[in-house]
Amino acid sequence: MRKLKGIGASSGVAVAKVFKLVHPDLTPSKKIIEEAQVEAELEKLKAVLQQSNAELVVIKARAFEKMGASKAAVFEAHILMLNDPEYISSIEAKIRNEKLDAPSAVHEVSQMFIGIFESLTDEYMRERAADIKDISSRILAHLLHIKIPDLTLINEKVIIVAEDLTPSDTAQLDKQFVCGFATNIGGRTSHSAIMARSLEIPAVVGLKTILADTDEFQIIALDGETGEIIIEPKQAIIDAYEQKAAAIAKDKELLKKYKDLPSITKDGHHVELAANIGTPNDLEGVLANGSDGIGLYRTEFLYMDATVAPTEDQQYTAYTKVLQSMVGKPVVIRTIDIGGDKKLPYMPLPEEENPFLGYRALRMCLGEYHELFRTQLRALLKASVHGDLRIMFPMVTTVNELIDAKKMLEEEKTKLLAQGVEISSTYQVGMMMEVPAAAIIADKLIKHADFFSIGTNDLIGYTMAADRMNEKVSYLYQPYNPSILRLVKNIIDAAHAAGKWTGMCGEMAGDLMAIPLLVGLGLDEFSMSATSVLHARRLISTLDKKEMELLAEKALDCSTMEEVEKLVEAAV
Ligand code: PEP
Ligand code: MG
Repeated sequence: MRKLKGIGASSGVAVAKVFKLVHPDLTPSKKIIEEAQVEAELEKLKAVLQQSNAELVVIKARAFEKMGASKAAVFEAHILMLNDPEYISSIEAKIRNEKLDAPSAVHEVSQMFIGIFESLTDEYMRERAADIKDISSRILAHLLHIKIPDLTLINEKVIIVAEDLTPSDTAQLDKQFVCGFATNIGGRTSHSAIMARSLEIPAVVGLKTILADTDEFQIIALDGETGEIIIEPKQAIIDAYEQKAAAIAKDKELLKKYKDLPSITKDGHHVELAANIGTPNDLEGVLANGSDGIGLYRTEFLYMDATVAPTEDQQYTAYTKVLQSMVGKPVVIRTIDIGGDKKLPYMPLPEEENPFLGYRALRMCLGEYHELFRTQLRALLKASVHGDLRIMFPMVTTVNELIDAKKMLEEEKTKLLAQGVEISSTYQVGMMMEVPAAAIIADKLIKHADFFSIGTNDLIGYTMAADRMNEKVSYLYQPYNPSILRLVKNIIDAAHAAGKWTGMCGEMAGDLMAIPLLVGLGLDEFSMSATSVLHARRLISTLDKKEMELLAEKALDCSTMEEVEKLVEAAV
């Protein structure tokens, strides 16, 4: 029996035989052809592109059936890439001008594209390299007449072990037989992790050595929550995993009843449980989990998914879709939050010593990128008539920044009204609370805002002066540290004193240890990943607001995070 630890990517447990998914080496040996062969090689390429296209259409339909529209969209992206004129013409040019045979040309061009994506610092963009790897493997397999593994043939219970799963692999998984998967590479936002969550297949990624450490047909136990893998588990472990699986299945059934219930404490105090989204594709999960609204729409993904900035019309369409889908429920749309770790290929920014303390988000929008910002503001204003829109500015640090951003919004509004465009008269304008300086002067900022939403991901990092990506200081990432709780209290109290509301859209809002404290501190809206909403609603229904107020008061007076944790554990 041996243990491995990776990143829990999709919760749930499984015990089953290993099915090793090893993709064949598709690296062709470089071959130069004669001028006379060029046309034949181009014809071969054309035929294989058509064949690959037809396969992707089938895989897309399968994905749609099993995982819904949003996941099938990944294959639409593959089909688009496969037909991308720049990609195809670069391959054809290699055949024509450099006299490479088709496999070598496909390999060289794909490697170049993969290299470009992998060199980007943004994790999301880096992972787009996986799409190109997937497409080029399909083309190369056909050109080289090598069979790629067919997962649809699996007909017994297995856990798939692989270097990584490509999106096409994931689309072919049959939940009836595939009880989980474990991969050497990948992170929480990799395609395979996202797909696993939507398929609700337990998964552990980033295990580094799982392929080398396991044999075909060996039994392994996998815990997608803790990221633990046990190779050849003892019977007692198998029993424990089976018990856990049964408990999870039972709990999932129990949670369903909270879907249509109000978010209310046992003594009748209402809060709002909203969801965070990155694209309109995430709406499926939001609606399935009975969220009370959207507390954070991170619009930067709209910009990151493209090779040029989205137009006003494209943005209007995306915002309208979200507002209409939520049929009158509140939707907080955050203006572009780029910079820091999020970069855009078409918006070159100088390298900075401290990008998180640098030129990012609103700072760029008020500076040289104000035209890009104004385009977004116009799209938001036009969409405002389609629902309950709340516009939110990120990274506000000073009162003047908030005033300047609002001034730009007003200017765009005046221009649109003059053109006869209809704009809602009830949309709200608020700001993220993620900079300690802003949190301290919340009473001044609230005079210019309709609401606050606390971004604890950044607020904790800035307050504790610790980068949570740096393992050596990750112990300082302390959501329940009294210093953080005092800042949160200051923000909520300032908003309430002005008769306004405060939400929280950082990870802390969905943290079951933090929720009792936040209820006690009077937080009005909690925004989290859609899959956390029902867990939060159930917990809140067991809490008494008055008791939580006393708990929060004691927590504020603690000296350490550990003391606060003990208090909460004893009270809930
Ligand atoms: C935050 O900082 O808490 C937040 C929600 O913003 P982001 O994670 O997008 O930086
Ligand atoms: Mg933030």
